[in-house]
Amino acid sequence: MQLSWFREEGPIRGNFISRLLLPMAVLALPVVLVWTSVRTFRELDEQKAVYLRNHVALVASRLENIPEEGAFERLAEEEPHLVGLVIVRRDDPETHAANLTPLWNGLELFRTGSLELDGVPAYRAYIPFHAAGGLRIARIDLDGRAADFLVVHARHNVLAALTGGLVLVILSLYALWMARRTAAMQMKQLELEHLARLGRLAAVLAHEIRNPLGTIKGFAQLAAEQASDCVKELLAPILTETGRLEHLVNDLLLYGRPPTPAFAVTGWSRMATAIEAHARQQIGDRPIRFQVERSAVAWETDANLLQQILLNLVRNAIEAIPSDEPGEISIRLDRRGGASISVTDTGPGIPPADEPRVWEPFFTTKPFGTGLGLPITAKLAEALGGTLALQSRDGGGTVATVRFPAALTKNVEVSG
Ligand code: ADP
Ligand code: MG
Repeated sequence: MQLSWFREEGPIRGNFISRLLLPMAVLALPVVLVWTSVRTFRELDEQKAVYLRNHVALVASRLENIPEEGAFERLAEEEPHLVGLVIVRRDDPETHAANLTPLWNGLELFRTGSLELDGVPAYRAYIPFHAAGGLRIARIDLDGRAADFLVVHARHNVLAALTGGLVLVILSLYALWMARRTAAMQMKQLELEHLARLGRLAAVLAHEIRNPLGTIKGFAQLAAEQASDCVKELLAPILTETGRLEHLVNDLLLYGRPPTPAFAVTGWSRMATAIEAHARQQIGDRPIRFQVERSAVAWETDANLLQQILLNLVRNAIEAIPSDEPGEISIRLDRRGGASISVTDTGPGIPPADEPRVWEPFFTTKPFGTGLGLPITAKLAEALGGTLALQSRDGGGTVATVRFPAALTKNVEVSG
């Protein structure tokens, strides 16, 4: 399990409890469970000995009142674990009573040990007792399996504790995962709201800037028409810069308020011609080969918006190819499972680190970029019911693909 899994990222940072105590508790629980299980099994031997010793004590306590002859039979009736009873006289040389001297001296109450009787594990205890006015020793054998129920009991306890612990760990992990997911969703929601507010703000600003900007550009153009060559040169940067501002303002307006599409049957051939004309104008005399696939199909879409989408992608493709190097841009139409239009370029591709960021508004790697092209294009594609995806290829090159699902393009008419 990785500890980093618990570490919240981004602006939502957990507190001391969620970042340190909770993960430590979840990790400590299995350790405690295993430790308790091992300890329970270790204590088992001791418990078994205590259990059997208690039985020995029970048998012993009754010996003093039972005459030697019928001792075993009488006790065996009441003590089911008793499997052997031998009473040894102190002065009987055949019973090796001499080995039991410490017992005689009262130094030990029980002498115990385990052995096997006819293949059955047994527990043996020697016990001194008074009978018929003299001291005797009773050798008591108990069936060792008598304490087996303790093992079963301990196993059940351990199993129950392990199952409970495991369920607890799973539940805790699930709760943590849910908490993280909720936090991530809230973050995403906040981000979206923030972007929407930013977009509206940008649109309001752009709207306010557009009119005065139009006036400046218009008058600068008029002035340039009537000016001398020397003044024209001075006015040229004003015209270029106002052109750039106009572009930015238009992008901001589009980003803030994406237009509502007006669907109509649109032929791909016408669209291809219009895009090629625009692209060739932008390419100018740069050594870029441009190809667009022609196909006599048509489907219901908004021609203007689709054209804007493709022109944005073509512009990015042209800008991606280094200015004095040869390159290739091609547009293909794939009709499998709906309609996909892809714009492929031979530029350097998008570095993996930039890939998620290119969708953020205002992210740009170009000195005069607005960083609004892709966010706007994605919004326009969405407005048309499609999706936009970028794929950078090995060894450079990018493929930008707009996909429309089959449901939207099923009324495609094939003409000619
Ligand atoms: P802008 O073009 O104003 O920079 P975009 O949103 O259109 O804004 O693009 C954002 C960034 O994505 C670009 O600055 C560029 O780094 C990267 N990008 C987009 N298209 C391509 C492409 N075809 N090849 C390489 N990089 C691209
Ligand atoms: Mg762009």
